[in-house]
Amino acid sequence: FSVAQSEGLVALSHRIFVRFEGIDDGNGKWQCSRREGSLCTHIEVAREYMQRKLLSNGNRGGELRNNSQGKDICESILVSISYLPVIPPHWCMLPEEKAVYNPPKGLRTAPECIGLSAHASCACIDGGRSFYNPNRPTLTRMCTVYTLTQAFQVEIELQTCPRCPVERHRYIGPEPRDIGLFNFNNSALFTHELLNKYISAFSGSETPFMPWVNQVARRYEESESENPFVNEGLFRTGWFTYAQLIGFENNKMCPFCGVFLENVIWDGVSISFGRKFVNAELEPPMAVSNQAPKCPSKSLSKQEWLPDGKMHRRLHEWINDGGLKIEKGVREEDQGQTLEATIQRTRMLEIELYPWLESLSLHLKEMFRRRMGHGALDNWKWKPAQEYSALFQLLTLDESTMQTMTHSVLRKLELFLKEPTPNNHADLLGVPALYTILWMEYTKEKKYAPETLGVARWMLLRTAAVLKMLLSLNQEPLQFMTPENFRRFDSSPEIQDWERTGCFYHLPQIRFRPRYPKLPHDRHPNVNTERIGTCRKYYKLYSQKCLTGGIMACWCSHSICYGFHCIPVGEGRNDVFSAIIT
Ligand SMILES: [Zn+2]
Ligand SMILES: [Zn+2]
Repeated sequence: FSVAQSEGLVALSHRIFVRFEGIDDGNGKWQCSRREGSLCTHIEVAREYMQRKLLSNGNRGGELRNNSQGKDICESILVSISYLPVIPPHWCMLPEEKAVYNPPKGLRTAPECIGLSAHASCACIDGGRSFYNPNRPTLTRMCTVYTLTQAFQVEIELQTCPRCPVERHRYIGPEPRDIGLFNFNNSALFTHELLNKYISAFSGSETPFMPWVNQVARRYEESESENPFVNEGLFRTGWFTYAQLIGFENNKMCPFCGVFLENVIWDGVSISFGRKFVNAELEPPMAVSNQAPKCPSKSLSKQEWLPDGKMHRRLHEWINDGGLKIEKGVREEDQGQTLEATIQRTRMLEIELYPWLESLSLHLKEMFRRRMGHGALDNWKWKPAQEYSALFQLLTLDESTMQTMTHSVLRKLELFLKEPTPNNHADLLGVPALYTILWMEYTKEKKYAPETLGVARWMLLRTAAVLKMLLSLNQEPLQFMTPENFRRFDSSPEIQDWERTGCFYHLPQIRFRPRYPKLPHDRHPNVNTERIGTCRKYYKLYSQKCLTGGIMACWCSHSICYGFHCIPVGEGRNDVFSAIIT
């Protein structure tokens, strides 16, 4: 380990070597090159640094001490000379958003010499920064300013950095934000206009760096720029460092929805990257802290609408096989067979399905008979209305489709049943299948059919029973946690928490994600194939290519993003609900 003595001195000559022989948990022999004896601050720092690095290899359970000072100067830290926050492009700002400074007009002619000011700094090799000192000598060099159509050679004022090692030739350089320039490394400077144009290009239609750089290079040729455009590598590095400065996190709140959203839309965005880039600092909401409370939830069977699995599958098949449709065989000899199948289905309806539905609810049977069974026969043709078909499809699915019946939906349904008026019925959009039926019946007949109301009541009671069963193991509401309980990074003010944790939400974290020791699939992202299902159709691909799951983001219904997190391994609903809960 190479340990710096103090924050101000990062040059190699000021560093002290610490040697360690032993096993990963830190047990072994520590030696400091400066001092004999067992413990000194250098050893402390090195030990802590090692602990932190080892945590990146999977073991997330361990807790870190917060007062870490160790810094790795071997890792190249991507920072630019410019460091002041930049306002986002005008077209992606909300009307309420305040610009922290007035955006300057786009640069069309070569600027005068770019001079040093109080904001001028050096992006030191350890990630720190040293600032311009007017009492020290300055020098002038040439730099290239890249604009939309051409590049200019411009004089730039610099000052040697007193903090960086001399052999690294680092300079304190200007911060030209006020003239719309981004100073990447004192030698290449880009206009904000140019860099924003790339944001517009890739968000408008998928544009990789390479073709875009080509396009700009051609434009430079056309406008006979004396200096060619940069290569792809330099532009990409420059653009990413610039993107870090854009203040996207300012007040991204929908003017209609406000702070607390009524409805959110969650979706995964498959911008995945290699899993080898996932480091220990990534903290998605799914991560379980060792302070997390334990929840006694168990997985319960019988969460379906219709309790008998075998029977509801038969009902599902009956509908999908054509119900009471009388099929005509194409060929003469098939006639008998298809007729036989039709008779079979009719018998099944009378002997099995009606009595079974009746045993569950008289209204359910009546609705089925009237809208799906014999009542759906019109002039010997079976024509069930699409709306009822949809409801019974929903009720007979193996999935727990009852999930859409939230507490608020239940309250609204209860209210509607007390007073079945179109006004109250409008609130039932949360159960679209039922809502559509009620809407149709009222428009057609100016009243709701008694059995429809009966089915609605049955749905209410059935959901309430399942909900009660699920909640019976979790009597206490989840605890809130004060913010002090959450780990905060304090290393560098330029790198914000979310840039390390890959987790950014506009509301602060309020609790730990609970641990569910009794749920067999909790915290086991490597689910087996049958659980992957269709919604994770690319999951296999990800795990084969060792890619991460991409980004999970949350929008309001007006397409304004309220937050996101990086998904280390695709997990599905855990990604969504962990974020909501925490
Ligand atoms: Zn420096
Ligand atoms: Zn909104």
